[in-house]
Amino acid sequence: MSELRNQPEFIELTEVVDREEHEFADMAARHFKARAKMALENDTLRASFRGASDFLMAKRRSVFPDEEMLQALRDRGEAARQRSLQDLPDLLELLEQNLIANGIQVHWAETAQQANQIIHDIMVANNARSVVKGKSMVSEEIELNHYLEARGIECLESDMGEYLVQLAKEAPSHIVMPVIHKNKQQIARLMHTRATTPDGEAVPYSEDVDDLIGNARAILRQKFRQADVGISGVNMAIAETGTLLLVENEGNGRMSTTVPPVHIAITGIEKVVRSLSDVPELLTLLPRSATGQIITTYVNMISGPRKAEEPDGPEQVHLVLLDNGRSKMFNHPDLKPTLQCIRCGACMNHCPVYARIGGHAYGSTYPGPIGQVVTPQLDSSGGLGVHADMVNACSLNGACGEACPVRIPLPDLIRKLRAEANAPVTVQHDGKPHVNGSGSHRSLAESLIWQGWSQLHRHSALYRLTTTAITKGRVLMPSKLSPWTNTRVMPKPAASSLHQLAKKAGVPSSAADIKTAQTPDATDNREGKS
Ligand code: SF4
Repeated sequence: MSELRNQPEFIELTEVVDREEHEFADMAARHFKARAKMALENDTLRASFRGASDFLMAKRRSVFPDEEMLQALRDRGEAARQRSLQDLPDLLELLEQNLIANGIQVHWAETAQQANQIIHDIMVANNARSVVKGKSMVSEEIELNHYLEARGIECLESDMGEYLVQLAKEAPSHIVMPVIHKNKQQIARLMHTRATTPDGEAVPYSEDVDDLIGNARAILRQKFRQADVGISGVNMAIAETGTLLLVENEGNGRMSTTVPPVHIAITGIEKVVRSLSDVPELLTLLPRSATGQIITTYVNMISGPRKAEEPDGPEQVHLVLLDNGRSKMFNHPDLKPTLQCIRCGACMNHCPVYARIGGHAYGSTYPGPIGQVVTPQLDSSGGLGVHADMVNACSLNGACGEACPVRIPLPDLIRKLRAEANAPVTVQHDGKPHVNGSGSHRSLAESLIWQGWSQLHRHSALYRLTTTAITKGRVLMPSKLSPWTNTRVMPKPAASSLHQLAKKAGVPSSAADIKTAQTPDATDNREGKS
């Protein structure tokens, strides 16, 4: 064992890393509002997210210099995803046929539990004790590492960000850049105190990015060779050719899918596309939107296990197709566009809420705007009953919808989920599709306020009467309206309404006034007066 580990500096740094781990665990155990508050009070975290969001937004802008071209690309990306979803059941059948024809074993999992069980069964059948994993958000969604580790199987993340998050005993805070919340010093401490070199030594402390990557590479290389199974995600599954497409930058995806004798890929059922001709459009949008790259370093296309004449590659390839609430999204007329997502993370990078509170505050696998939409729908037990506060953490500024490369109407979906959370309980019993927890946050007072609001805007006489009453009674308005006024000044109604000001200025403000003003006589009269 390294002498280094007994040095006071090492012990001190270990304490810092342990404290950060406890802070994460403490945050994770709390409710959304408490988590958000903790994140807002953490200056280091806020600086990391602000810097990363600004950097990623600028990178994305730089690869889409032509606005017209960007919008045309988004149109095509949206169309490609909608085509796939339109034919989803047929495409999944076609995909299965062609994967089997290519020698890939296909497994269907309705729930996270089933997916974990399937993967564990494959491992047991192969006497496998260790896994090396490429990046896969679906494996995070089903908490695969916990499941396998509880059964004595060693799981090692091989994506650099995921590896660091695993060392920190945290969860990813971004779907593309899992360790975006940590700065260079935090990562250096983590590698130094928690990683072990192939010789069993502590990794030397270094804040140099090349050193950090080089040290991780040396550790992971050996693990790739030793692992019994490699697990990966899938970016697109191509139905007509039975091909699994995987994009990545580090080469760890290629290593995880080719070096161990068994490769298990896992993906949500929505990732299927019909043909290879759908790929270029989506591949043009994905890396540009995610990291501001024209293309990722590696684009892997997996079309079967090693053939007799081939020198390397896995002997078995499995694909686990996970539903876990996706069929329900597919059948919901309003929320179906959720499934268009290509998991680029651009909506997070552009979200002012995400940029301030970061990914862990959401407490879900998928944070940010897409997380707000997808999380209540994936959670079959709590749904909106648990996640309504998260859905409300949105200013509806629309930036996510404008950044989304496949035009998912995120602000609309968030609004719809808010309405579902407040829906009358009868909605759940009238045979229409609904999200779990629909109506769980229904408040009589809020419903009455919105009904009143709606009536007010439908009846002009009532509207005028109310605005007149408000302007007259402005002095009676409360100066505090928590929690809104905790950070804002309570606005005072103006002394005169817009209609009153318009009338005073002689501007026609009602339909009848405008009509009168537009008649030749009226015009003549006005001209005569002037
Ligand atoms: S919702 Fe759109 S922007 Fe957000 S991750 Fe999905 S594809 Fe990307």
